[in-house]
Amino acid sequence: MTLPELAVFDELLTYVRETSLLQTSADLLEWDERTGMPVQGGEYRARQVTLLRGMVHERRTSATLGQWLAQLQDAFAADESTSPRRSAIARMREDFERDCRLPRTLVESLATATVRGQQAWERARHEDDFSLFRAELTEILRLKREAALCLAKEGESLYDALLGEYEPGARVAELAPVFASLRQHLVELIGRIGVVPKHQAPKIECLRREYPVETQRSFSRLVAEAVGFDFRRGRLDETTHPFCTSLGPDDCRILTRYQSHWFPSGLFGTLHEAGHGIYEQGLPRAWYGCPPGTYASLGIHESQSRLWENLVGRSLGFWKYFFPLLEQSFPQSLGNVGCEQFHAAVNAVQPTLIRVEADEATYNLHILVRLEIEQELLSGELLVEDLPAAWNARYREVLGIEPSSDAAGVLQDVHWSAGLIGYFPTYTLGNIYAAQLFQAAERELGALEEMFSEGEFAPLLQWLRTHIHRHGRSYDAAELIARACGERPNSEPLVASLNARYGRIYSL
Ligand code: ZN
Repeated sequence: MTLPELAVFDELLTYVRETSLLQTSADLLEWDERTGMPVQGGEYRARQVTLLRGMVHERRTSATLGQWLAQLQDAFAADESTSPRRSAIARMREDFERDCRLPRTLVESLATATVRGQQAWERARHEDDFSLFRAELTEILRLKREAALCLAKEGESLYDALLGEYEPGARVAELAPVFASLRQHLVELIGRIGVVPKHQAPKIECLRREYPVETQRSFSRLVAEAVGFDFRRGRLDETTHPFCTSLGPDDCRILTRYQSHWFPSGLFGTLHEAGHGIYEQGLPRAWYGCPPGTYASLGIHESQSRLWENLVGRSLGFWKYFFPLLEQSFPQSLGNVGCEQFHAAVNAVQPTLIRVEADEATYNLHILVRLEIEQELLSGELLVEDLPAAWNARYREVLGIEPSSDAAGVLQDVHWSAGLIGYFPTYTLGNIYAAQLFQAAERELGALEEMFSEGEFAPLLQWLRTHIHRHGRSYDAAELIARACGERPNSEPLVASLNARYGRIYSL
């Protein structure tokens, strides 16, 4: 790079970082909207977020930015190295071209529609009445279809255009066989579990006893800290629908929800979001707001949360370490329960209606239902007014159970109300990647569960820092996985890990 080019690069970075300041300000307003904002504050908040998102979009598509990127890309044309600078420019250019395809008016309309959509969804869910959300969802779908038309490259389907926003490079046609094979194995595994005599299956009654929320709060915090979430650079709060958001290099917010008579909700919600947070906290700090300091894809993000939630948090080693502390925290509820019994309980398989609380065997079936439905909604094959009936029918068919209410059915997820269409497949990809990463880490580090039973989580964390976190967005998800695990994304390690775990617990 010549000196004038270096100067342009610095100018570009300053500009991109300022855009990130605006972006994270809008994110903070949204965090507040989903945690503490008074109900009546919604309309004004929608205007604030709309203005900021519009300004961000304006900056991300400005002609000056385009000129800088063109100039620097030329400078790197002959450079074969994989320096962060080179990959930063390439990624920024991709983003720029993508953003330029969306008109500002559409971005603003989507920002307004999704703030209103989330408010309507909250109300509809609270009142258990889908019709209160129908008009808002129809509008969101109309706008997302318009966005997909703008974004789709030649030969790309509308759904792929939206999926690409969350999982760059992924295509439904390529995912379909991987997902179909996973579905077949899962249905087979659930079938084998289903015929296990009742007395041999884990008893989950111990999870439904009373767990005072205040004690759950401190226990969840202790666990999140033990696995590596840094509370000096983040915090844990509560909300209806748990999530994680990064508001700056040293400010990561994670949220969970506690239920006094259902223990898994709070702790596993915390571990899941802490996994997301640990990833955010491990991204290269010096590049915050720029591609090398940003997550690779949502599938990779989800692999981190699912890894800590399930492969660590539901392992026997983990509970050998934490169960004595849990007993001390809840002596009344756990007096006559043993560690192995508790571990089996948190791994019980039972088709249920709620995705976020589903066990690992049935979880991906929830995703596959949503994937089919949202493709049909986007293409117009399924009308919004027919959605609750279609949802219920699909649950009956795939999971063998049917929601008795909209709140426990079609209204359970925040995604569609937030305009996140094409997002669900990243959850299943996350499960697939997580199992691959865990297997690769274990190959290198040795028996991980034995480490967990001693309270040692740092070796695994360090392995993830080295193989995933420090690369930021330098590679597409599939390449990142191939580099870390020595194989392309595939569902075999996930199927093997589920078969091994449930084989032990259910004596299959
Ligand atoms: Zn997640």
